[in-house]
Amino acid sequence: MSIDVVSLGCRLNAFEGEAMKRLAREAGLGRAVIVNSCAVTAEAVRQTRQTIRRARREQPEARIVVTGCAAQIDAAAFAAMPEVDAVVGNDEKLIGARWRSLAKGGERILVNDVMSVRSTAPQLVEAYGDRARAFLQIQNGCDHRCTFCIIPYGRGPSRSVPVGDVVTAARRLVDEGHAEIVLTGVDITSYGADLEGAPTLGMLVERLLIAAPKLVRLRLSSVDGAEMDPRLVDLIASETRLAPHLHLSLQSGDDMILKRMKRRHRRTEAISFCRNLRARRPDIAFGADLIAGFPTETDEMFGRSVLLIEEAGLNFVHVFPYSPRPGTPAARMPQLDRAIVKSRAARLREAASAALVRFLDDQIGKRADAVIETGGRIRLPNFAVGKLSAPSGAPGAVIRVEILARRGDELVAAPVHAKEAA
Ligand code: SF4
Repeated sequence: MSIDVVSLGCRLNAFEGEAMKRLAREAGLGRAVIVNSCAVTAEAVRQTRQTIRRARREQPEARIVVTGCAAQIDAAAFAAMPEVDAVVGNDEKLIGARWRSLAKGGERILVNDVMSVRSTAPQLVEAYGDRARAFLQIQNGCDHRCTFCIIPYGRGPSRSVPVGDVVTAARRLVDEGHAEIVLTGVDITSYGADLEGAPTLGMLVERLLIAAPKLVRLRLSSVDGAEMDPRLVDLIASETRLAPHLHLSLQSGDDMILKRMKRRHRRTEAISFCRNLRARRPDIAFGADLIAGFPTETDEMFGRSVLLIEEAGLNFVHVFPYSPRPGTPAARMPQLDRAIVKSRAARLREAASAALVRFLDDQIGKRADAVIETGGRIRLPNFAVGKLSAPSGAPGAVIRVEILARRGDELVAAPVHAKEAA
C-alpha cells in the first residue's frame, strides 16, 4: 500500500515529510497521500489546495491527509474540503501514536495548540537528501514576530535538538558517506537558547566539526546575521570545512521598512556585516531573502533594497513579492497596489539576476572542490551550481574542478585531473 508525501515550502517540511512517510507506513495507514502544506504566502496556500484536489483526482481510493503550516494555522478550512480525510498538526505529524490512531479510523482532526509545544521531535530520520547533501534539522519554531510572517503561528516557539543528538546524527551521516551536511531549521541562529547551558550555534558547529573529522563540508541554511554569535562568525572566517556561503534573512534595504517589519538589524549593519566577513573570508558568497512591496514602502525606500544588493555584495537573492498573511500585523497596514508589488518584484529580480551573473562570471578560471550531486550537477563550496564538461564520479564524490564558463545561471567545469592529462 503506497504512502505518497507531497511536501511544499521549506527544507524543514521536506525533512519532516520523510519522517511522516515512515511513521504512517509503520502505523499501517494503508494507501494514502500526505500533503505537507506551506503557509508562507497566499500562493503557497493556493498551491496546497490545488495539490489536495489533484491528489483526490489521481488517487480516488487513497486517504488524503493534510498537515504542515497551512493545516496547523487553519485546520477547519482544510477539514471542510470534501477531498480531505484528515488534518494533522505540525507537532502531531511527528508522533507515531497519532498515525496509529488515524490508521484505526480515530479522530479526523488532530491539531493541538502549537504554541504550547516545548520540545523538538527526536531525530526520526537519519537524513533527508542524497549522497551529496544531507539536511539535518537542529531547530524548529520561532520566538520572533516579524510583522509579515505567519510561520511562528504554524511552527510554535523556538526549540532546539540537543547537541548530543545532533552530533550523533551527523556522525552517522558521515559514516553513510554524505559529503555535505546542511544544518536546517526555522530560525537556526536562535539555536540553543532553550537548552540547558544555552549552547550557541557557534558552539554546536564547533562541536560538529571536531566530532566528525571526516565531514567534507558543513553548510548553514538561512540565518539571521543580526543574531549570529561571535564564535560562529570566527569559525566561518577561518574554518575551511564550513561552507563559505551564508543565506541571510535581510528582507529589506530600508531602515523604516525594517523597523515596520520588526527586524533586528538596520541597513548599515547588514552592509558592514557582509563587508567585514568578506574581508576575513574573501571566497565567501552571500544569499539573501528580500521582500518587494511591503506595506507603506515608497519608491525611494524600495530603491534602497535594490541598492543593497550591490552595497552588501549579495550574490544569490531570493525575491518575494509581499503577500499579506491574515493574522499578521503587516496585513492590517495600508497595502500597496498589487501592480506596484509585482513591478517592484520584477525590478528586484532583474537586479538579483545581474548580481548572480557578475558573481558566476567571476568564478571563471578559478578552481574549487565540488561535490557531485545527482544528475551530474556539481555544487561549489560557495553554493554555485554547474555541470561537468566530462562525467566524473558518483553523487557524493568530491572532486577538484576548474571553472571553464558560465551557461545561463550555471557554471561549466572540468575535473582538474582530466584537464591536466589532456
Ligand atoms: S525570524 Fe521572522 S521571518 Fe523568520 S520565521 Fe521568525 S517571524 Fe518569520
